[in-house]
Amino acid sequence: MTFDWLTLLFIFVALGAVAIFILLPRYGPHYTSRLTCPKCHKSFNFHYIPGATLASIIQRNYRTLKCPYCHTKAVYDIALTRTRSPRPQKTKLKA
Ligand SMILES: [Zn+2]
Repeated sequence: MTFDWLTLLFIFVALGAVAIFILLPRYGPHYTSRLTCPKCHKSFNFHYIPGATLASIIQRNYRTLKCPYCHTKAVYDIALTRTRSPRPQKTKLKA
């Protein structure tokens, strides 16, 4: 019954893909980095999931992002500017 084993394998692969692409980005560890634009010096928050995207595996702690204010592309170190632990917490103070 090789066909059934292949079907099972396909289901496992499909479930694995669902876990990586749907469950992990939604329920996995989320980080927030407080970034400051080098051009306009405005601060903005960047939410990301470590290891969930191909870019994060290649670039590690560096991301090329567009500033939401002046739309200038810059490379940010998201590990150094990390502000939150994996679990999203409710902030007590209003920034
Ligand atoms: Zn800017």
